[in-house]
Amino acid sequence: MSDLHTHYPVVVIGGGQAGLAMSAQLKKHGIGHVVLEKNTIAHSWKTQRWDAFCLVTPNWQCQLPGFPYAGKDQHGFMLRDEIVSYIEDFARHTCAPVREGVAVTRLRQSGRGFMLETTAGEIAADRVVLAVSGYHVPKVPPFAERLDSAITQIHSSAYRNPDQLPPGEILVVGSGQSGCQIAEDLHLAGRKVHLAVGSAPRCPRFYRGRDAVDWLDDLGQYDLPVEQHSLKEGVRRNANHYLTGRDGGRDVDLRKFALEGMKLYGRLRDGRGTRLQLGDDLQTNLDNADRVYNGICRLIDEHIAKNGIAAPVTPHYEPVWTPTAAPTELDLAASGITSIIWTTGFRSDWSWVDLPMFDGTGYPTHKRGITSVDGAYVIGLPWLYTWGSGRFVGIGRDAEFVANHIKERSNESHADTHQAGRREVSQYAARVAV
Ligand SMILES: Cc1cc2nc3c(=O)[nH]c(=O)nc-3n(C[C@H](O)[C@H](O)[C@H](O)COP(=O)(O)OP(=O)(O)OC[C@H]3O[C@@H](n4cnc5c(N)ncnc54)[C@H](O)[C@@H]3O)c2cc1C
Repeated sequence: MSDLHTHYPVVVIGGGQAGLAMSAQLKKHGIGHVVLEKNTIAHSWKTQRWDAFCLVTPNWQCQLPGFPYAGKDQHGFMLRDEIVSYIEDFARHTCAPVREGVAVTRLRQSGRGFMLETTAGEIAADRVVLAVSGYHVPKVPPFAERLDSAITQIHSSAYRNPDQLPPGEILVVGSGQSGCQIAEDLHLAGRKVHLAVGSAPRCPRFYRGRDAVDWLDDLGQYDLPVEQHSLKEGVRRNANHYLTGRDGGRDVDLRKFALEGMKLYGRLRDGRGTRLQLGDDLQTNLDNADRVYNGICRLIDEHIAKNGIAAPVTPHYEPVWTPTAAPTELDLAASGITSIIWTTGFRSDWSWVDLPMFDGTGYPTHKRGITSVDGAYVIGLPWLYTWGSGRFVGIGRDAEFVANHIKERSNESHADTHQAGRREVSQYAARVAV
């Protein structure tokens, strides 16, 4: 089995930022481990992001443990390839023991530990950390397969740039972060875009003289544990706020796009052949997104007032466009639409994890990453502990917590073994004495 051992104290599965952060923290404690990555380090950033992709979160939030973003543009937004370099540099900096090209195909309990079936053979581990994110399988509605085969359909993870699509108009389905940014990418390239708008909220990019993220950080929003959030664990199902880091960062204002010629619709409900049914919720969805946007502005206003901070006054958002009756039917052929981009997210696939640690909906049962199976951990999931858990800003803290737990448990089991050893010795001594 190449240079892999047959047993490790800890096996970390996944060589993205979460697995590498975990490795760095284990190393700090001197805990032996290996990181198994089925592709290459930072695979999802390399392969599932479009050419003009950049971070939505400011660079200063890239806080991999002991390796914060050190470039000149702390308040800028790294481009895709810069993000990949940042992660690869981190792996080099920590000398992470990563084995690329090794997929774990089955994980099961074995004795007091675990057995991993991998593409490089079987490996035993005392403990395992699953750092494989939750974005596994592109999610596309079932009716997609009933649509006319002449329509090109791709998922956001396969979108690269406008030239990849055939001539004609494009329907983007979904208005989360990816949907809005891909719609903008196409719009800026002069392509005619139709956008089916869902219920994602939005956030100002800059407000009262600073990036809203900086204000929200001062407000402690990124340190709020999930159990203290008003929605508790329910927040994990929320869509991300839309805004962009493109060209130094700006708001994403769908109403402005509409003024510039983008066609907006409510949520896509169903479809067959070339005909699509859409909800009549466009106005509601736009209003709700703006309500959240202005709610964030108010939160920042209160913070500024309470702390007597000198900050320029910025107006709250006023709608620049309001839909008249949005169509609830759309004929793709009649509208000249030749492509659909599904920006409808991902679903998780834990089918290879044969451990009794799931909650019945396919989500791992855990508290701050410590699962219900002794010795098995998850890390890197959105709102695992805080908002930043699935992002660069919070992954270091979560990895540190899990590594500390592993360290404590290792000490306990050493103490147990030591105790058991002492018991055996004294029983032997007693027998000898008799
Ligand atoms: C479109 C998009 C935009 C985002 N923008 C931002 C942003 O602006 N700022 C921010 O902080 N975060 C952002 N995120 C969130 C987050 O930072 C990324 O999702 C990040 O990739 C998560 O890192 P990870 O290590 O948890 O997972 P991943 O990067 O997905 O890494 C998991 C790794 O596990 C490997 N793997 C999976 N299964 C196995 C297996 N069975 N055996 C071995 N290896 C396996 C995969 O090949 C992969 O390399 C964004 C996410 C998306 C999808």
